[in-house]
Amino acid sequence: MTSNDRVVVIGSGLAGVRLARRLGELGTPVTLIGEEEHRPYNRVLLAEVLAGRYSPEVIALPAPAELTRARITGIDRSARTVVHADGSVTGYGRLVLATGSNPVLPPLRGLFTASAEEHELPEGVHAFRTMDDCLGLAKAVRPGVRAVVIGGGLLGVSAARALAVRGAQVVLAQQSERLMERQLDPAASRLVRRHLTGLGVEVHTECRVRDVRCAGGAVRSVEMADGYALDADLVVLACGVHPRVGLAQAAGLDVGKGVVVDDKLRTSDPYIHAIGDCVQHAGTVYGLAAPALEQADALAALLAGDTGARYTGTRSLTRLTLTGPGGPFGPFDLAAFGETEALPGDDVVQLTDATRGTYRKVVVRDDRLVGGVLVGELGTVGALARAWEGAEPLPSAGGPLLHLLTNDGGS
Ligand SMILES: Cc1cc2nc3c(=O)[nH]c(=O)nc-3n(C[C@H](O)[C@H](O)[C@H](O)COP(=O)(O)OP(=O)(O)OC[C@H]3O[C@@H](n4cnc5c(N)ncnc54)[C@H](O)[C@@H]3O)c2cc1C
Repeated sequence: MTSNDRVVVIGSGLAGVRLARRLGELGTPVTLIGEEEHRPYNRVLLAEVLAGRYSPEVIALPAPAELTRARITGIDRSARTVVHADGSVTGYGRLVLATGSNPVLPPLRGLFTASAEEHELPEGVHAFRTMDDCLGLAKAVRPGVRAVVIGGGLLGVSAARALAVRGAQVVLAQQSERLMERQLDPAASRLVRRHLTGLGVEVHTECRVRDVRCAGGAVRSVEMADGYALDADLVVLACGVHPRVGLAQAAGLDVGKGVVVDDKLRTSDPYIHAIGDCVQHAGTVYGLAAPALEQADALAALLAGDTGARYTGTRSLTRLTLTGPGGPFGPFDLAAFGETEALPGDDVVQLTDATRGTYRKVVVRDDRLVGGVLVGELGTVGALARAWEGAEPLPSAGGPLLHLLTNDGGS
């Protein structure tokens, strides 16, 4: 194989591994390069490893045969080579960036605030992005350990639940007024909060952390904006992610919030493509698994010669399962999609069962389903997702909205 026809993929996460596997199946030669020491794994399931529910082996991805463990430090676009950290080079015919995201490090006093790529955090302070982060946290968590999770989005909620299940005394500090506010409406957020509280997590909303205090290089406490200090043996930073665009930027590619790609997942250099969390497509940076996999599939088809293949965007559902110790506090499932809060003039159907802790709601605009949220009772999720993804007008007779919420539609 010459470097002219070689597809080189940087990043062996969900997107890179899926692409390499698909290309292998389609008979297109591919070299996958990833920096993580572990066998490629499904990042979405890391919280289950932290909770002790799965071992790392269980979440391993079926990796393609040719996987090189290395960190790529540069791209030479004129020579069409990538440079490895040890100085060696690999030539490419087509290059694919699948470099994922980095955790956002909040600007806290006492915290290393430079590039997250260095991961130089004080002892006891952890990001929650990689298997190493997860194993580091799993090693540090013991019953009674005082843990503060900073951030109440999907990541923070998952981390807080996992640490609580392992017996830690967890405080979750969320800056905005409710949990998972990007995905959920206020009623669903309240149910998530109730679930976490039931597991013993102390949830503080509208609570800004301003400092992480260390002694002897290790974290000792976390200080809130109002001066209140919480003792902490462990701190988890779950303040969001940003696309990992350093390589693309240094190579002079168009970068906005992510690496800018078109419907053929091409960057501003026709020999370089990008997929997954690092990408900005049609103005959107997804940061979710489903779009990463769809982009990988579309690009595999294109690179294997299907010139008509396109990626036109993903309407993706957020799903989260919070397993608990049983009884009234577990397991707890939720799914959310689209716009979960109605605008004036929208129709809303909502079913709440306070005893069972279930909540279902759909938002309809001009006969089209524009969003919904299901908590505790997900039987109808398949039918709702299909109606939403298809964006087709809903049938008008016979109370179709209520029907959508109460009939599982074979899902
Ligand atoms: C704890 C957790 C829970 C999540 N839960 C959900 C969920 O419930 N639903 C959902 O949709 N999404 C979830 N996500 C997000 C999801 O994991 C990502 O959207 C998905 O992993 C994106 O895949 P990717 O391949 O683009 O990036 P990644 O999986 O991040 O993979 C990128 C890989 O590239 C490697 N890399 C980067 N730069 C280089 C370089 N220069 N050289 C070599 N290798 C490099 C990285 O080390 C990494 O291994 C979760 C994420 C986390 C951390």
